[in-house]
Amino acid sequence: MTEQPFVIVGAGLAGAKAAEALRDQGFTGRVMLIGDEEDRPYERPPLSKDYLGGRAERDSAFVHDAGWYAEHEVDLRLGTAVVEVDPDRRKVVLADDTTVPYARLLLATGSSPRPLRVPGADADGVHYLRRLGDSDRIKAAIAAAERMVVVGGGWIGLEVTAAAREAGVEVTVVESAELPLIGPLGPELARVFADLHTEHGVTLRTNAQVERFTVDGSGVSGAVLADGTQLPADAVVVGIGAAPNLQLAAAAGLRVRSGVVTDSSLRSSNPDIMAAGDIAEADHPVLGPGIRVEHWANALNQPAVAAATMLGRDAVYDELPYFFTDQYDLGMEFHGLVTPGGYNRVVYRGDVAGREFIAFWLLDGRVVAGMNVNVWDVGEPIKALIRSGQAVDEVELIHPDVALEHVLEA
Ligand SMILES: Cc1cc2nc3c(=O)[nH]c(=O)nc-3n(C[C@H](O)[C@H](O)[C@H](O)COP(=O)(O)OP(=O)(O)OC[C@H]3O[C@@H](n4cnc5c(N)ncnc54)[C@H](O)[C@@H]3O)c2cc1C
Repeated sequence: MTEQPFVIVGAGLAGAKAAEALRDQGFTGRVMLIGDEEDRPYERPPLSKDYLGGRAERDSAFVHDAGWYAEHEVDLRLGTAVVEVDPDRRKVVLADDTTVPYARLLLATGSSPRPLRVPGADADGVHYLRRLGDSDRIKAAIAAAERMVVVGGGWIGLEVTAAAREAGVEVTVVESAELPLIGPLGPELARVFADLHTEHGVTLRTNAQVERFTVDGSGVSGAVLADGTQLPADAVVVGIGAAPNLQLAAAAGLRVRSGVVTDSSLRSSNPDIMAAGDIAEADHPVLGPGIRVEHWANALNQPAVAAATMLGRDAVYDELPYFFTDQYDLGMEFHGLVTPGGYNRVVYRGDVAGREFIAFWLLDGRVVAGMNVNVWDVGEPIKALIRSGQAVDEVELIHPDVALEHVLEA
């Protein structure tokens, strides 16, 4: 009998990087990468940024060249959904009822957009953004639209808004919270993004809910808010968050909370099954137990650890969460994690009004997160400040003449 393969379910960034890591780490056995999309693995950030804005080619989004999988003897099965994981018999079941046995399994099934369940939400012209095809459709909608409603002022909603504004479309963002991005950033920095968009001519409707969409024929013609406001629109993009795809893991009896619960080596409650990317809720040596983030960098870096664990080697995932966004002429990187009640102050180094600064979130004098806005090459010292867990001198921290590397020594 031939040896059973290492199987990866989910051919997104985490899945592709796991296949690569297994080969890089010297695994010569069979690797099967199974994904339900028709496109080979690609990165999603360009879908709401350069690809959507027409500044990048479709090909630039793919994780590997088309030939890479065969060259590395990775058996890539596209357009193939896994419908069941059977941990007792160590096999997965595909949608066509065939079964695939595994020696080790990695779940990297990612997330799906949260649906907005209001009347009219299934009309033509109401879009979600997760896949390449969605980005193509929204790009076409932006090219044709005069007015657009974006529901949800999260990262994706605001990036689509920026792309639409840059194409000259009138955009109204409907956000249920007091400010867009208040959840991931807190009110201080959320205000920076709200101002950025209003300065670019976006209408922000905050503390607002979409009650229904109006439909003309089969196409959307607008949104009606709970207070009765009517917002005419040729197209709508809904970006109200994503939910991790946990169905397979839960049905297989794995421990699941906000994600697939893993140890810091990305091993699930079943020692033969690992999880990585958006679905992994992993113990973190610096941040504590149960950390789950839906970030590109997580999907990029966790797979090397998951692959090592699959190979029976010791490895721990201890990277700090990292996120980036580009909107108009604002580029930013964010390191760390901001949770409600998880900080007491935000302090700034640089020019906040001119949008060239670093913000630090402090908890009892310690830096828990840092965001550099139009300031570059400061990621390493920001991470070092967070990792140190030491209280810092605030005067030094915000002083432009003190190198960030020297703040800890002060
Ligand atoms: C438009 C957009 C922009 C983004 N921009 C940024 C950004 O600027 N910065 C940032 O840090 N993050 C960004 N993100 C988030 C980032 O892309 C995700 O965190 C990352 O894609 C997660 O990778 P993943 O491999 O875990 O999951 P995914 O990329 O979701 O891949 C999972 C794959 O598994 C497939 N799958 C699911 N279930 C099954 C099954 N049962 N059988 C077979 N296949 C299955 C899915 O269809 C999918 O192809 C963005 C996301 C989107 C959608």
